[in-house]
Amino acid sequence: MANGFIDKARITVRAGNGGNGAVAFHREKYVAAGGPDGGDGGNGGSIILQVDDNMSTLMDFRYKRKYVATNGMDGQGGRRTGKDGQSLIIKVPRGTLVRHAETGEIIKDMSDSDPYVLCKGGKGGWGNQHFATPTRQVPRFAKAGLPGESLDVFLELKLLADVGLVGFPNVGKSTLLSVVSKAHPKIANYHFTTLYPNLGVVYVDEGVSFVMADIPGIIEGASEGAGLGHDFLRHIDRCRLLVHLVDVSGSEGRDPIEDFDTINAELQQYSEDLASRPQIVVANKTDLLTDSEQLDAFRTHVEELGYTFMEMSAATHQGTRQLVQRIGSMLSELPPVIVYEPEYVPRPPQIDTSEPLEITREGDTWLVEGAWLQRLMANINFSDYESRMYFDRMLRQSGLFDTLERMGIEDGHYVSMYNLEFEYQR
Ligand code: GDP
Ligand code: MG
Repeated sequence: MANGFIDKARITVRAGNGGNGAVAFHREKYVAAGGPDGGDGGNGGSIILQVDDNMSTLMDFRYKRKYVATNGMDGQGGRRTGKDGQSLIIKVPRGTLVRHAETGEIIKDMSDSDPYVLCKGGKGGWGNQHFATPTRQVPRFAKAGLPGESLDVFLELKLLADVGLVGFPNVGKSTLLSVVSKAHPKIANYHFTTLYPNLGVVYVDEGVSFVMADIPGIIEGASEGAGLGHDFLRHIDRCRLLVHLVDVSGSEGRDPIEDFDTINAELQQYSEDLASRPQIVVANKTDLLTDSEQLDAFRTHVEELGYTFMEMSAATHQGTRQLVQRIGSMLSELPPVIVYEPEYVPRPPQIDTSEPLEITREGDTWLVEGAWLQRLMANINFSDYESRMYFDRMLRQSGLFDTLERMGIEDGHYVSMYNLEFEYQR
């Protein structure tokens, strides 16, 4: 059954929350009142993606849909920092596209070997050890940790191959791959034997090789989703070159020209871009050929359309070496495998600022906390000017500063919220 190959999945990921800072005071014999020594909360673990070349499907994501990294621990007295949460590394096959589940935008193309931080863990809150100032020697407050980021993503595998094999079922694609590489695709004399893509490394010369992908055969109407092929065409989206195999033996009573045109029409319907990808057209099963008339007519048709034409018998290895050489020389002049640029730009979350915040006064410090503020701050990149401006707008919009004024805040006092403290200026 076709169910063995899973190349799409939707998962939910959540980074760990930061631990809370501690409120504690140093105590020693004979020392009346020690200073504040509450330690910081640990940072939450992140969600990290990493390519694993031993994986070739998204099968693992079929039954496990939720991935959560651990939270940071709370800080403790004696300036002890809470333990950081452990990051969770999620392994994916090379070529996995990570998309935002709601918008479909590409967040990351996992085609290189660098780990990618998909969700950052929340920062731990500061303990009260940080808040002692000459005018505030007994800070009885610490900061809560910030929540970790979370996301719903859609994973989609798009194989990374230089060359994609296309053609009707049974034309010899799997046979070719098994002859020119060490891959062991299933070969059988019935249609749709290839139910999941196979990749093989093909060596051309010393130090020169390419990756060839064998995908399930395209069948008529596949690009409209009628058959098996449509879904699999995505696996050759990135290919730099297509090798289009056609059975010219007439052994199945097929017409090579018709088959060839049908496949190209399917490609066209799937994507213009894929249809215009450079193509080598290979007439296969020439060992079975009794009459060369049909082959000549086919060659003329193909060459008139401007494609490179070659003959081969994959079964007897006739012409396979020449094909490999030809592919090698064409690839040397073609642009590299397509890598998709990220489209997704993190947006500040929609936050309702109407809920009143909790305000506590500690001398000249005004502590501000609240659920929406915590969520907002977890999503603000304070090293980015635009983000800071946005943050400022949200605070103004919420009426926080008006409230503080009413409560008696003065210039030079401090406003302290989670991992941020600033001097108040009217
Ligand atoms: P695919 O569906 O395109 O992957 O086709 P396969 O590689 O599975 O081959 C289908 C059948 O055609 C198998 O029985 C192969 O042994 C046979 N075949 C493939 N290439 C040749 C060839 O060049 N000559 C002959 N005689 N048979 C071939
Ligand atoms: Mg096959």
